[in-house]
Amino acid sequence: MIDLTGRRAIVTGGAAGIGRATATLFAELGAQVVIADLDAEQGEHTAKEIGATFIRCDVASRADCEAVVAAAVELHGGVDVLFNNAGIIRRSTVCEITDADWDLVMAVNVRSVMVLSGLVIPLMAANGGGSIVNTGSGWGIKGGERAASYCASKGAVVNLTRAMAIDHGPQGIRVNCVCPGDTATGMLAEEARQLGASVDSFYSDAADRPLGRIGQPLDIARTVAFLASEAAAFVSGAVLAVDGAGTA
Ligand code: NAD
Repeated sequence: MIDLTGRRAIVTGGAAGIGRATATLFAELGAQVVIADLDAEQGEHTAKEIGATFIRCDVASRADCEAVVAAAVELHGGVDVLFNNAGIIRRSTVCEITDADWDLVMAVNVRSVMVLSGLVIPLMAANGGGSIVNTGSGWGIKGGERAASYCASKGAVVNLTRAMAIDHGPQGIRVNCVCPGDTATGMLAEEARQLGASVDSFYSDAADRPLGRIGQPLDIARTVAFLASEAAAFVSGAVLAVDGAGTA
């Protein structure tokens, strides 16, 4: 049922982690994939491996986002699926975080969703519709410790998803949010580093949830592929936790 044959997709943050797993699965399911990421070395590597196109892009830059969409149109003639996934975390309280870090987290995690979606929606609408999936987080649904900017940004992504689903449903565009729990990627290791914790103990603490393990990138990718596909034809405005019942 989950088939993306001929679907033209953009995956942000597709060089590594959840984005990489999703770009890979999209390609396996028949999609034509553009990977947009800050990390050119890893991005080129992933794109080559899966037969996608890599475009270097800082999603915090409107000019970079415009260039990615223009490249996708030139290469594939349009965009049917947008996975707004690039994200960063700063593990700090409001007393600790700098204005610059706050603004960066908001620009990468939230403003990019507005910018890229705003560029892609007219193309999707002209083509009869499309699917946008945004990456939220369990910490977009509930709060978390020493992650004020991240929690604020992911809460914004969750409700921005609903607003976009309402505004653009009449154009045939579905907008959904996937909310991963702790998932084995570079981000989790980066969090351990920022908190001065060992990666191993961080991973084992994160496995303390009803399904008894942390997430794997493929767990999230499968959900995103479902949301991107026609199997989810009547799913829009949904906020779907993929976290082994962590937020339950
Ligand atoms: P990751 O660090 O493994 O991958 C993130 C990717 O985004 C990297 O390839 C990085 O180069 C890219 N990126 C970062 N800043 C960028 C920018 N400004 N422009 C373009 N690309 C940029 O992390 P991940 O765990 O795969 O995270 C993917 C998404 O999942 C993020 O939105 C994150 O907040 C969310 N998430 C992750 C977890 C987790 O436990 N790993 C949990 C909940 C939500």
